[in-house]
Amino acid sequence: MTSAVVLPTKTVGLDVERIRDDFPALHQRVNGKPLAYLDNAATSQKPQVVIDAERDYFEHDNANVHRAVHTLSSRATLAYEGARDKVRRFINAPVRESVVFTRGATEGINLVVYTWGRGNVQEGDEILLTEMEHHSNLVPWQLLAQWSGATLRYLGLRPDGTLRLEDLDALLTRRTKVVAFTHMSNVLGTINPVAEIVAAAHRVGAVALVDGAQSVPHMPVDAQALDLDFLAFSGHKMCGPTGSGALYGKRHLLEAMDPFLAGGDMISSVSLEGATWNELPWKFEAGTPSIAQQIALGTAVDYLSDIGMEAVFAHEQELTAYALDRLGSIPGLEVYGSAPQRGGVISFNVEGIHPHDLAQVLDQEGVAARAGNHCAQPLHRRLGQPASCRASLYLYNTEDEVEALVRGIRLAKTFFGA
Ligand code: PMP
Repeated sequence: MTSAVVLPTKTVGLDVERIRDDFPALHQRVNGKPLAYLDNAATSQKPQVVIDAERDYFEHDNANVHRAVHTLSSRATLAYEGARDKVRRFINAPVRESVVFTRGATEGINLVVYTWGRGNVQEGDEILLTEMEHHSNLVPWQLLAQWSGATLRYLGLRPDGTLRLEDLDALLTRRTKVVAFTHMSNVLGTINPVAEIVAAAHRVGAVALVDGAQSVPHMPVDAQALDLDFLAFSGHKMCGPTGSGALYGKRHLLEAMDPFLAGGDMISSVSLEGATWNELPWKFEAGTPSIAQQIALGTAVDYLSDIGMEAVFAHEQELTAYALDRLGSIPGLEVYGSAPQRGGVISFNVEGIHPHDLAQVLDQEGVAARAGNHCAQPLHRRLGQPASCRASLYLYNTEDEVEALVRGIRLAKTFFGA
């Protein structure tokens, strides 16, 4: 008879206090109050291992990649290419050739527009975007429309901040060449049904680009399972350094594309008459890349993977529900968006207080929140608000920090008599 195996109970909750110990910047007072860092949609804090990885590279291995046989250059190249393998695993890209290092989501989207877009979109074609896009996934396509004579189309929003999927089939035509949309709104927190939209795009022969700036840092994202054509994201929003990030592209698409920037490293051979291109992914990595930063992004990916993206997502879901409940108790406070599937980005206004004034009072209380249009002016116009205040959560945030936010808002209300 086989004896029963007792499996240990799986802990889904994060040990947030232990995680907080990893982030030196969280342990400071701002204006005499403990910092509550709630501006993670703009950029995340960095764990010590990531800070150390970048410093370690400069202290020991600093050399240019791919270009020399000397030991330091070999070490730098190994670490840089090793980071690419880590990012490949993190998003489940099938091959490392599909992972192009970029300075972030903005650069990745521009790369696609300038190369795939210029090569494939012509007058009479259509580009489908949504009304909730960040300027980074809006303005590059507007440029492409100007250059090519293509028409921009937009999927609108329902009152709860979800996309009007009921309009999708009517907006997609045989002329639609690309559907570009965010996985998660950086204003409303809405998590869009990526697989469904990508499948609809593919049915009319369009390619799908997903802006993963707000999803890849916060939830498991599987490029193959979602059948993405392109996925752009930024390292600095996922515990990595500024100047790091990646563009995932299906290999056959990247192979058919012209280079983006031209210069060193992206060529195979150069004569005075012309040049031929390097293999993927280096064809798209002209010049000296952000070596230290991409290596440290690899460390950030290890850090998040060790914790587990399911657990990160679960923690943020729980804390978002808590924050929405607590903010709901404040009279005159309106949260924008109430999608059933949403992440930890919460934008709101308080009647009678300008969001910039509110953010200033919050800062006096040690609470780092953001006020403005969050690079989504068309969405704010749609909301009928020039600006909003935004609190955005990450794996290290706590209920106590949400309470600090709520206290700060109540104080502002007293201060402004609102
Ligand atoms: N898309 C979305 C949804 C974002 O939130 C951001 C950053 N706020 C970006 C794109 C641009 O990211 P980056 O500035 O790192 O290129």
